[in-house]
Amino acid sequence: MLDPLSNTAWKADGDCYELTNTVQDRIIWDSFFADSVHDRQAAITFCDGCPMQQRCLRFALETGQLWGVWGGRDESEIRRDLWMNANGTVGSRAKFPRCAWCFTEGQLEIVNEDKHQVRCEACDFTWKSETTTQGVRAHESARLAS
Ligand code: SF4
Ligand SMILES: [Zn+2]
Repeated sequence: MLDPLSNTAWKADGDCYELTNTVQDRIIWDSFFADSVHDRQAAITFCDGCPMQQRCLRFALETGQLWGVWGGRDESEIRRDLWMNANGTVGSRAKFPRCAWCFTEGQLEIVNEDKHQVRCEACDFTWKSETTTQGVRAHESARLAS
């Protein structure tokens, strides 16, 4: 897998790459980083069906994008999956980390400890996140101790 930090060529294949300066396109474009989740809904809907949707979400997770809509996921969802708040501070989480793609709870496995890579057993979505890996490990430890 290419390093997402150095490889952003996929963006040219995303549907938002084609947005132009028309009024309608600007409304959609602005909605990606709108203040309210209600106003971000246009971006979320626009992403649905984009051929780069999973790639885009993985990029957001792996590069810690805490603002905006990526891969059809709102920033609050991405922060939750990164176990971070809006300031980038790592928080605690009561539930076992869920899949950032299909939202299935409790089915993440660590596939590479060194690269902090996790995989969803339900849908096979795989990404790298140190905080998510920590979350999986913490809940596995708790499960073993109980
Ligand atoms: S998923 Fe959305 S933000 Fe990502 S490339 Fe596609 S249209 Fe753009
Ligand atoms: Zn999944």
